[in-house]
Amino acid sequence: MSYDPNNVFARILRGEIACDKVYEDAHVLAFRDIRPQAPTHILVIPKGAYVSLEDFSEKASEAEIVALVRALGRIARAEGVTEDGWRVLANNGRAAHQEVGHLHLHLFAGRDLGPMLWRR
Ligand code: AMP
Repeated sequence: MSYDPNNVFARILRGEIACDKVYEDAHVLAFRDIRPQAPTHILVIPKGAYVSLEDFSEKASEAEIVALVRALGRIARAEGVTEDGWRVLANNGRAAHQEVGHLHLHLFAGRDLGPMLWRR
């Protein structure tokens, strides 16, 4: 998948679409998911134009990678979810049902999150 500069998260980063921001630094933006699947459902995205985790892990600078990982912990602590537990999930590509072609990490918390994957 090549990067589409008009994907919805690129438009949020450019300020063309509003978001419910919870965190921002030089490399990362985080905002609440518009269709939350848990009481806490936050999307954590790099500001750079990366489609997926494999794209990001290959091309992002060490500063960008560190910032994304540090942001996850900061947001989890700020949301007060570390004691009860929380989950990070990244959908990459078709089999994972990735809908938006800009890397995003889902941060879920606030209820029992169930098994890690659909079992069948
Ligand atoms: P994924 O299936 O991993 O690509 O997830 C995309 C997520 O983006 C879904 O959970 C959507 O609800 C969410 N989403 C789509 N548009 C927006 C938006 N404008 N603001 C916040 N979240 C959004």
